[in-house]
Amino acid sequence: MSGLGRRCESCGAEVIVRRRHKGKDVPCPGCGKSCEVPKNVDFLVLDAATEVDRWNLENCAGFLALSLPLCCLFPVPAGVWWWCSAAIRRAREEDRVVLPALLRLRRAAIAMLVFELAFWVLMVETRL
Ligand SMILES: [Zn+2]
Repeated sequence: MSGLGRRCESCGAEVIVRRRHKGKDVPCPGCGKSCEVPKNVDFLVLDAATEVDRWNLENCAGFLALSLPLCCLFPVPAGVWWWCSAAIRRAREEDRVVLPALLRLRRAAIAMLVFELAFWVLMVETRL
């Protein structure tokens, strides 16, 4: 699990801070002293991670669209599905917003996987 890391002022241990902790005290895992989280704590780090997801999302959607006319590329939807699942899990662990497009892309990848598998089964059947 990750979040925004802050240093404990009394022992130097890393205290993981989440968005919901803004303006609250978080106990330090090292010394137990409470570590104050300022209201204006910089969550840009987490937002940057969401930005990376968004960028990857566009690429994955592109690959998925490309794999439609080229059914021979059927590991592509599997890869996209795997990647979406990993990104969704990571976002949830990090308390970030799960991009709705990510959920949509995962559903699309599953549908494509089924479709392309059916296509291959059909191909094999007609040739036998
Ligand atoms: Zn401490």
